[in-house]
Amino acid sequence: MVRLSFYGGINEIGGNKILLEDAGRRLLLDFGFPYKRHKLFYEEYLKPRSGAGLLDPLVLGLLPPLEGIYRDDLEVPGLWQQFRDIPSYRRLEQVDGVLLSHAHLDHSGHISFLRGGIPVYATSVTAFVIKAMQDSGKTDFDQQVCYFSPTRRECPAGWKQTAFLTSDLPRQQRQFCVADREPQALSPEALRFWEWGFWEKTAKQKELSSCPMTGHHDCSFNLRCFPVDHSIPGACAWGIETGSGWVVYSGDLRFHGKRAELSQNFIEGAAALRPRALILEGTNVERESNVAEREVYENGLKAIKGSKGLVIADFSPRDVDRLLTFLQIAKETGRKLAILPKDAYLLKTMRLLEPETPDIAREGSIAIYQDTIASRYPNLWVRNICQEYEDKIVLAEDVASAQEDFILCFSFFDLNELPSIRPRAGSLYVYSSSEPHDEEQEIDFRRLHKWLEHFGLRGFGLPLEINGEWVIPDAERGLHASGHACGADLLKIAREIKPEILIPVHSEHPDFFVEHLSGSKMDIALPVMGGTIEI
Ligand SMILES: [Zn+2]
Repeated sequence: MVRLSFYGGINEIGGNKILLEDAGRRLLLDFGFPYKRHKLFYEEYLKPRSGAGLLDPLVLGLLPPLEGIYRDDLEVPGLWQQFRDIPSYRRLEQVDGVLLSHAHLDHSGHISFLRGGIPVYATSVTAFVIKAMQDSGKTDFDQQVCYFSPTRRECPAGWKQTAFLTSDLPRQQRQFCVADREPQALSPEALRFWEWGFWEKTAKQKELSSCPMTGHHDCSFNLRCFPVDHSIPGACAWGIETGSGWVVYSGDLRFHGKRAELSQNFIEGAAALRPRALILEGTNVERESNVAEREVYENGLKAIKGSKGLVIADFSPRDVDRLLTFLQIAKETGRKLAILPKDAYLLKTMRLLEPETPDIAREGSIAIYQDTIASRYPNLWVRNICQEYEDKIVLAEDVASAQEDFILCFSFFDLNELPSIRPRAGSLYVYSSSEPHDEEQEIDFRRLHKWLEHFGLRGFGLPLEINGEWVIPDAERGLHASGHACGADLLKIAREIKPEILIPVHSEHPDFFVEHLSGSKMDIALPVMGGTIEI
């Protein structure tokens, strides 16, 4: 009997945490950050206490009470006594690994809390993107996915409190097992990237190791890794051979991006396994059709061609395919695409594994926008990027004096640079991202509109608030291709893979599958939060 227990991604989009158990062997399928539930309790100025380690997320139900899988250094004294009486508490002796579907934090973020000894299985691109995101991003204690700084409990003399102090203990890297290539075959430059940041003598750097598929790792499960198309590079679905047959986990996927054929190959590969169960995402079940990445290019080009003044393009910086869409538009319109140093770092990282990625040094249409106000202690990775591509750096004054020459890749959080740029009235703000999903994002959208109004920028593709609804004007649609398959595509996946049991996750409307697939031979099992499905 195989047991699947669900601790996240149930009636919610994101936060996937699934435990698969088969005769004493265990795997976690993703271990994501539950944004929606997190926001029920927290906001920017009300955060979990990093010094309390596991206590806050466990008490608030943001982490499942599974003793034995988390980092010891994040335990406050007596932590587990508090949870041993609750029904969902379990002590797990051993977990063989996490099968990570992709680098979005709603699938990977809570890996931060897991024991360092639990290996993470992922594609090489996912491993590298995760490292690039962490190297160049915030270092909150709950976002240390690739490596973490162990803490030590200490309290200043004379105080009674319990304190966690980040100590001088060496930074520790997790064991990543890459599923799609031999780590030995990586270029010396790629290996140097993986080791970067671990130069202290005592640092616990871990070499990349391989998966059962690529050779020699001692995972007791037979696994398959299927690359799929999603809005971040490196996404994959997984197949796990269990005592009850194959279990397939889709991760997040779509059929309308630049890598659609990968998702198609996944369907064929997964169907050939004749799986016992398919755990399938259902983010966009209610959507009837998709905007394709190709249409984003065409609509973006139409909007930007002939526009006067500066163009600002707002899209998810981790969506490398979208960045390349806008690079193409920049070339067609005779502008330069000005990206941020962290985007340049990600692009450079991608090129280590996918040589067809543009080389920033040789790409005449890319510039790197550096913040106006210098930091006294710039991060090393920024300094390296800015030195390596010195002749690509542009500052606010360069953009201000030649506004028609640039498409600036900014998001909402970069708007505070505008006082230095002073965009000319009539400049264009192209919005190529998703609509607001919650109140907090709605407030941000109102702020965004204020910024545009203040500087006389024209929005394009930007949702407007009309009678309490956020709507994109009809003539400005088609500037964002979602990372997720629409309802019809999801039904096609289920029908063609033909599992005996279909388990929808990562969806606010899982009953969509019950409505549309009743009468088929598939059993549809709707998981509940903290519940177990036996197969
Ligand atoms: Zn995703």
